[in-house]
Amino acid sequence: MPAKLIDGNAIGAAMRAELGTEIAALKKKGITPGLAVILVGDNTASQVYVRMKGKACDEAGLYHETIKLSKDTSEAELMALLERLNTNPQIHGILVQLPLPKQIDTNRALHRIDPRKDVDGFHPENVGKVAAGDATGFRPATPYGVQQLLLRTGVETKGAHAVVVGRSNIVGRPMAALLLQDGPGGNATVTVCHSRTRGIDQHTRLADILIVAIGKPEFVTGDMVKPGAVVIDVGVNRVDDPSKKQGYRLVGDVKFQEAKQVASAITPVPGGVGPMTITMLLYNTVQAARQWAHR
Ligand code: NAP
Repeated sequence: MPAKLIDGNAIGAAMRAELGTEIAALKKKGITPGLAVILVGDNTASQVYVRMKGKACDEAGLYHETIKLSKDTSEAELMALLERLNTNPQIHGILVQLPLPKQIDTNRALHRIDPRKDVDGFHPENVGKVAAGDATGFRPATPYGVQQLLLRTGVETKGAHAVVVGRSNIVGRPMAALLLQDGPGGNATVTVCHSRTRGIDQHTRLADILIVAIGKPEFVTGDMVKPGAVVIDVGVNRVDDPSKKQGYRLVGDVKFQEAKQVASAITPVPGGVGPMTITMLLYNTVQAARQWAHR
């Protein structure tokens, strides 16, 4: 029987509706959660992501500012802006859209964000908190969204063998940390694979929950999936497709048509993890506003 589809659009929409209640309650107390998104340069994909984040803030009733800087902005200029946002009381969350132009040191910029406003969860203070299971830390939006997909589709992580393929700071590593936590959506036994892992298929075939985030189109084939596994495909890759108007189509890191014949549940690309990432950014911004009010 083909796998059940895990619908990130529907789950994300339901979660944003729930968040609306909390936003309304905060507004009654005079707090409107605010997000600043900084875009340096004119990367086309980044422009799209930034627009989507602004639109999501508008729809949720959050205050937001998108600050666009030219591609030759110096590191000192970006740092000065971050300092201003760190002390701006209207702004609870700050996000620097990556990648940054090469004259700016990404880590230095990310580390300049006040950790209490670091809604991307990339500051070492938040990385440490998430690794230690401290709920005041900000969970990076993509793995946080994956965890919510699992929770909200009733996938039991406790005692399950979760295999995470990819170890980036944005997805793989924090994903493993969340699955390891002692609590709902955690308590899994976690294996992390990366580009130097030997015999990767031997690991993936042991996964009750297989999460793939490597940026390699359709890398995971059906025979790499354990029958009945839950497959979460984080990858978003453009592949040429002359039959499409735009000349390409989006595929994940998993060969969907094969994997869905073997798995019990699977996320599509698009419409799986993607919509959850923006949803969890909104959640983190609201968390930041709530924590700021109680500091
Ligand atoms: P990344 O920073 O490039 O990291 C890729 C990771 O995959 C690295 O850890 C790398 O290993 C590993 N890897 C690469 N080739 C591999 C192979 N053949 N076998 C095993 N591991 C391999 O990428 P990322 O930022 O994590 O993103 C991964 C994918 O997720 C991309 O397609 C990206 O577009 C997508 N993404 C989607 C969302 C969303 O909201 N849907 C959000 C973020 C990312 P090494 O560390 O050994 O090099």
